[in-house]
Amino acid sequence: MTVAPLMLAVSVAFPKPGQVLPPVDSTYMSGAVPRGTQTITVQGREVSVYRTGGWVTMVDVVSGENQIEIVAGDVKTNVTVRVEQKPKPLPVNKTAAREKKWTKLEYAKDEPRVHPSGKAPSDILIVVDPGHGGPADTGAVSPHGFFEKEANLRLAREVVVALTNMGYRVEMTRDSDVPLVLTERPRSACEGEADAFVSIHHNATACNSDPRKVRYTAVYAWNPIGEALAKAVSGKMAAELEGDIPSSGVLHANFAVTRNPEVPSCLVETDFITTPEGEEAIWDWKRRKRIGEAIAQGIDEWCRTPPPAGKRE
Ligand SMILES: [Zn+2]
Repeated sequence: MTVAPLMLAVSVAFPKPGQVLPPVDSTYMSGAVPRGTQTITVQGREVSVYRTGGWVTMVDVVSGENQIEIVAGDVKTNVTVRVEQKPKPLPVNKTAAREKKWTKLEYAKDEPRVHPSGKAPSDILIVVDPGHGGPADTGAVSPHGFFEKEANLRLAREVVVALTNMGYRVEMTRDSDVPLVLTERPRSACEGEADAFVSIHHNATACNSDPRKVRYTAVYAWNPIGEALAKAVSGKMAAELEGDIPSSGVLHANFAVTRNPEVPSCLVETDFITTPEGEEAIWDWKRRKRIGEAIAQGIDEWCRTPPPAGKRE
């Protein structure tokens, strides 16, 4: 009896063949093979495959073009990874750089809005922003090739459903796969009557750090008005996901969607899409619904909690 050689299709989600990376010594590489495959070989080293068929590993790269070979059964796949050779950056004036990063949203007023604690939910407007969108801005990519922009939209819809059920007015910055300019996302919140702005994302590790080593939730805020909102959202998420993934609490980040001086804003990073475990968890719709409800409960708690006396936030 002759046994047919085992042929296994292997896909690579990151980096894409020919993808240009910044100057790094190593990068993570991820992809998928048929379920049931135990191991594959990448750069001659054995790599274990998760039960979903997803795989991820770290590979060594040098400046210039790298041919990285992936072997699964009898199938060999080569991916070209170009690593950019950039001249060493000149020393920067840190103060000037920081000031530049402070760029104000030109349409936002400096004065924060009055906290909505005195209002009924039906008089409170929350803007939910599913991060990324459109063909060019996919966000991060999972080992099976799913895009963060889609995961963000699905979770954002759960947040909207939960808030609507609580009686809030809700608007989304996008409800389909369309591109949006980052600095334009908070515009409708400022020009309308929004009481809060929440951007929904899924996290990814930097190309030269190992995605297998990090998974956590985090809520980013920049100013005190956003921080109070972020704290409430982070607390509810951490409670809901206790024993599942750890919480990093509230982190500070000067993002276009967090530095709004007028409308309290925060950015939620729900999980890491770059690992096979994170990917599997993100596509669990029951878990997604629970996370969406937890984010909505955090927003609700913030709306109902009056700020300390004398403070607008
Ligand atoms: Zn994102």
